[in-house]
Amino acid sequence: MAETNDKTEKPKTKVKNVKGKTDEFIPREEWPFEEALADEYERGLETMDVYTVYVEPKQTNNVLKFAQKYLASLEGLEHCKRIRRITKPETDSGFILEVLMCLKDKLSQTELEQLLLNNEQQLYEPTVHVVSVPRYAPLNRQQYEAWHHLWPLSYREDTRLDPKFTKEDMTVIHDHMRHLLSLSTVACRIVDPDTNQVLAEGIDTRKEHPLHHAVINCINLVALKENEVYGGRGRQMKRTANEMTDNEQSKKTAYLCTGYDVYITHEPCAMCAMALVHSRVSRVFYSIPSKTGSLGTNYKIHSHSSLNHHYRVFKHVLLKEGNLLLLDSSLVDQEL
Ligand SMILES: [Zn+2]
Repeated sequence: MAETNDKTEKPKTKVKNVKGKTDEFIPREEWPFEEALADEYERGLETMDVYTVYVEPKQTNNVLKFAQKYLASLEGLEHCKRIRRITKPETDSGFILEVLMCLKDKLSQTELEQLLLNNEQQLYEPTVHVVSVPRYAPLNRQQYEAWHHLWPLSYREDTRLDPKFTKEDMTVIHDHMRHLLSLSTVACRIVDPDTNQVLAEGIDTRKEHPLHHAVINCINLVALKENEVYGGRGRQMKRTANEMTDNEQSKKTAYLCTGYDVYITHEPCAMCAMALVHSRVSRVFYSIPSKTGSLGTNYKIHSHSSLNHHYRVFKHVLLKEGNLLLLDSSLVDQEL
């Protein structure tokens, strides 16, 4: 079969890096791994019922004033537009407006109809309609595309905080992971992404001590090293420029692993995931999901709203290689 050229290449974002070099970011759908996103980014459509009325455009202001005065606020539904345009019922031409009034559980349909009547609201038709609208605001384009047919939604794509990787970054990530996987055990590395310097590398030694998981061993190594270099004073903040805006903050001492990347062959357990929160790591890359994993499998500790630090997690890095290399190892099923 002749090659077709129907696959048009998407334009790639080009951004100048600090050295003035132009980097090309790889679009998310082409990453060779996945981000372990918070549940709200992955949820499907959930709806709630609201009342709407049909009005002629010139009646809209009155109806909105009525709603403001007599009906409960639409708190939590700010993502839904207040008005949508619809074709006049039972006609093929012309349009009227459908105005969102209030949540269905606030009062009965008859009560609302009576209230509209008592206040002499001019409606296109006296019936109040019940419509299902998306319960949550769409957080990404995928959700927006899937949900906005139900009711017009406000959504502004903001990719400024999205993780960005260049081809070069991918090579670096794969190099670290390939090395760890070649050790054929649960292994971890902590890396300073500014310099690509490996600050600590450790393997799981829980046979010697039940708490000596690979992540904990690595954090300990960083702590020992920093203590050696900085004594009790701690490392000065130098990264996370988005969090550090003024001089005052830039003088602060960094938490143990602020701004560092963690590579680990297996998905960390809850204890290790929390240790990574406390030491303020920036990103975690792991290859193989685990039964007791807490960064995607059972929990998503890295994105838990009650915690005061969040880090990005990327899973399935070189997963095929990981599974192959560790296929015969009892570690695959080990509770991590
Ligand atoms: Zn652990």
